[in-house]
Amino acid sequence: MSDVIAAPPCVRIPVRGGGAFPVRRVYCVGRNFADHAREMGATVPAAGVARGAPVFFLKPADAVVPAGGAIPYPPGTADLHHEVELVVALGADAAAGALQRTDAQQLVYGYGVGLDLTRRDLQAAAKAKGLPWDTGKSFDACAPVSELLPAAAVGDLGPRRLSLHVNGELRQQAPLAQMIWDVPDILGELSQLYALRAGDLVFMGTPAGVGPLLPGDSFDARLDDLLQLHGYVTPAGE
Ligand code: MN
Repeated sequence: MSDVIAAPPCVRIPVRGGGAFPVRRVYCVGRNFADHAREMGATVPAAGVARGAPVFFLKPADAVVPAGGAIPYPPGTADLHHEVELVVALGADAAAGALQRTDAQQLVYGYGVGLDLTRRDLQAAAKAKGLPWDTGKSFDACAPVSELLPAAAVGDLGPRRLSLHVNGELRQQAPLAQMIWDVPDILGELSQLYALRAGDLVFMGTPAGVGPLLPGDSFDARLDDLLQLHGYVTPAGE
């Protein structure tokens, strides 16, 4: 049977050292750093108190912008925000509900650094009404991601630091050890809800310091000196 329209292209993220990673699905974790949860007005359990369940949402796979570059200021918002995040790229499958925490690391192909771009005004309006966040979180070009680095080249994540500079000014910075749920935790929780597949990305949540991006701004997101995502915001419609 032949297609009745041209098949939509699959977004591919370059891998350092060669090759490309085709993207199937993009999961995101909300409120995974206590200081960011607080700045968003959420209640954070005290140390030693049960942390509850993580917040998940999705972005469209075709919203991934490989290697950054030009990001058009999105329509429908006057408050585009940056959220710098670790991005986990899965290289193997796990049937729904089947993943043990101890096996989770075997699913990881590698890591990137990305921005969970957010139309904060739309997200806030949806939250206030108890409605879904989709229009605030899912839009064209809302997920710039750096090149990927295989997991073995990154090693232990805990001491690695995320950072984001906007126009040369430091906006966000935190060690990954501050994540409330680490990568095996999150993959285990996701597996309870979805069949995980090679090609899936997981945005792991952002530390405090989120704020506006304006047309003309440039951004530089990093995981130490291992990974870098550089880009800039262009005026709407360009
Ligand atoms: Mn986020």
